[in-house]
Amino acid sequence: MKIITALAFIFALTINSANAKPFVLACEPEWQSLASEIGGSLIKVDSATHGQQNPHFIRVKPSLMSKMRRADLIVCSGADLEVGWLPLLLRNGGKGVQAGQPGHLLISDYVTNIEIPDVLDRSLGDIHPQGNPHVHLDPQIILQAAALIESRLSLIDPDNAASYKNNLTSFNSRWNAALGNWIIAAEPLKGKSVITYHKSFSYLLKFLGMNTSTSLEERPGIPPSARHLATVVAIIEKTPPLAVITAPYDPDGPNKWVAEKTDVRVITLPYTIGGSSEVTDLFTLYDQTIQLLLN
Ligand SMILES: [Zn+2]
Repeated sequence: MKIITALAFIFALTINSANAKPFVLACEPEWQSLASEIGGSLIKVDSATHGQQNPHFIRVKPSLMSKMRRADLIVCSGADLEVGWLPLLLRNGGKGVQAGQPGHLLISDYVTNIEIPDVLDRSLGDIHPQGNPHVHLDPQIILQAAALIESRLSLIDPDNAASYKNNLTSFNSRWNAALGNWIIAAEPLKGKSVITYHKSFSYLLKFLGMNTSTSLEERPGIPPSARHLATVVAIIEKTPPLAVITAPYDPDGPNKWVAEKTDVRVITLPYTIGGSSEVTDLFTLYDQTIQLLLN
């Protein structure tokens, strides 16, 4: 962190000389939303992906490369979530957003990822080699990420550090209040079991005290085989789960097939901001997710 602090001085000069608002490019909508909470009108912010896109796989378009060239800070989930496209994108980024610089923030570098594989064999095609990267569905990690974003914004734009700190304090207090309500509201979900398509919701299930017996993907990123789906059907018939839960961008086919075989409900959760029309920020994301599970 010492190196980062030293580098930040030079970096801050770059921003201030341009006399422009810092431009934050988030990899995913959840970090765009969180950066907006902390930066408010003092920053410009955009996201490389939207709520109907699988963040593991996107095509890097020229318009996105152009955004990366202008970015002063990137905020991404990390843990290889964006390994298929972020390295290519970063080749178009300035010095300030490269690894080790204050403008390069991967949240997973600072939190404890769950589901780290015991044995890593990339030949198996597992796309979670560093553990589960879908960290934004743990509300405690959101608090950690908010503090990290505040600290990076203050490094690159020190003139507005006091405002970023105030915004962080306000966000923390609103988030902690909402968190208390979610814990009470979600009480009936505790101990209930679901099956997921991809391991997109593991942090959420851990937070809610829910269990998951299997997922439709045999390994993260590997489309389900007929043999594995038959195993899933057997598990559902033996111990019926509350539902099969999916993200808006997950393929329909395997979920529908399992639902037809077993009568299990399929619930599409918003996963991130823009995952459904009602989800416009992190608060409504958690509100609606818990409501959908309770319904
Ligand atoms: Zn994943």
